[in-house]
Amino acid sequence: MVLGGDGRFYNREAIQIILRMAVANGIAKLFIGQNGILSTPAASYLIRKLRADGGIILSASHNPGGPEADFGIKFNSSNGGPANTELSDKFYHAACEITEYKITEFNDIDLSTLGDERIGNTEISIVDSVAEYCSLMEHLFDFDRIHNLFNSGAFHIRFDAMHAVTGPYAKEIFEKKLGANHGSVVRAQPLEDFGGGHPDPNPMYASELYAHMFAPDAPDFGAASDGDGDRNMIMGRQLMVSPGDSLAIIAANASRIPGYREGITGIARSMPTSRAVDRVAAYMGIECFETPTGWKYFGNLLDNRMITFCGEESFGTGSDHLREKDGIWAVLFWLNILAERQQSVRDIVHQHWRAFGRHYYCRHDYEGVSLQQGEDVLAHLSEQLPQLSGKKVEGHTILSGDNFCYLDPVDNSLSENQGLRIVLDNEIRIIYRLSGTSTEGATLRVYLERFEPEPEKQHLDTQVALADVAKISRTLAKINELTGLNEPTLIV
Ligand code: MG
Repeated sequence: MVLGGDGRFYNREAIQIILRMAVANGIAKLFIGQNGILSTPAASYLIRKLRADGGIILSASHNPGGPEADFGIKFNSSNGGPANTELSDKFYHAACEITEYKITEFNDIDLSTLGDERIGNTEISIVDSVAEYCSLMEHLFDFDRIHNLFNSGAFHIRFDAMHAVTGPYAKEIFEKKLGANHGSVVRAQPLEDFGGGHPDPNPMYASELYAHMFAPDAPDFGAASDGDGDRNMIMGRQLMVSPGDSLAIIAANASRIPGYREGITGIARSMPTSRAVDRVAAYMGIECFETPTGWKYFGNLLDNRMITFCGEESFGTGSDHLREKDGIWAVLFWLNILAERQQSVRDIVHQHWRAFGRHYYCRHDYEGVSLQQGEDVLAHLSEQLPQLSGKKVEGHTILSGDNFCYLDPVDNSLSENQGLRIVLDNEIRIIYRLSGTSTEGATLRVYLERFEPEPEKQHLDTQVALADVAKISRTLAKINELTGLNEPTLIV
């Protein structure tokens, strides 16, 4: 098995405990990231490369860390991907029935020194996950070409590791291997509490990077990743590339990248993600799959070579190189595109919109509503679904409304109630989902999208372009009446 985590509070202590339990249970071999550090994508890669039976990743992803904050334990299967629903259910039931556990006592293992050690019947290897991951990236991307771009002296980046797991990976790859200026990677030291920050790469929590990229002396390219290194935010000068656009641009430029020159088999996106990539897939004559929210739904498609790329609106992008979304990979993909095309991020995005049209897109979160209020909104909408088609709202006509369900084309498993989806004229789409039930209540997520084919109308502010759609979303679902909220609490 593979074992490691994102470096948050309790990472090292948990690893020592898991080691003692692994030895007591006779696990044959454990591969542990040096210093206990293992990004989620690196763990996925190691599981696959080493043909491990699975891996334990200690992380609460993009959520804050520290003595009073979040901690999490994830299990990834032998394909390198998140445990599927069936396996998760088995874990849950087994955990409910536990009456005893085995543990062997021995002194803490030194996690800082590379090498092998044997305790009982278990062989323990401390591995350099940065070097392993880096070799995979060198295989996929044209490092020489990207190095030349940095060597020109006229190209500068800022990568914000947010004091989370990608720091050591980013320092090695961007600064040492590719020649970015020393100091291009900021907040590179993984800290147990992420420096008190919220390691989630979006305009709100990566506000420092955001401010730098909108400053007059902004670098050419900016990016950030989250707590465990699987999310990414891509920025150009005075510009953020939306995750949906990023996925579409990655797919459209695949033939320029060494690891993907052979062609791509298909693409998948989660249902609420912008349909920008659908247009690229249609142009390329390949299939575009629409899956429920959650990376595990891409696993079967990837394992059966039905897709090459996949992505989610929540800043997740990935490919068949492993079975998780991958933040550093997405950044390298963009750097390789920039090195090949010798254009700015802005020019590349604008050219893409001219060629394929622009999908204005954003997510409105209504946070801290009670579970009851959230369910009331969805129930109110669900009741209307059968009569929605043909109805007029705020000057637009509703074409269809449904509750998204997904039939997995590989194992035929059915996932129901995956979000209410309303499609209107002018390629407007509104999706409602309820998520994040916790002590602080639930979050009603509303995803807004509108297609704009006319180049001269593609440069509006997103919120301005979607003002009508936002109004329709509130009217249709009676959000104000049922939750008491007149405006979203978070716009992403
Ligand atoms: Mg994450």
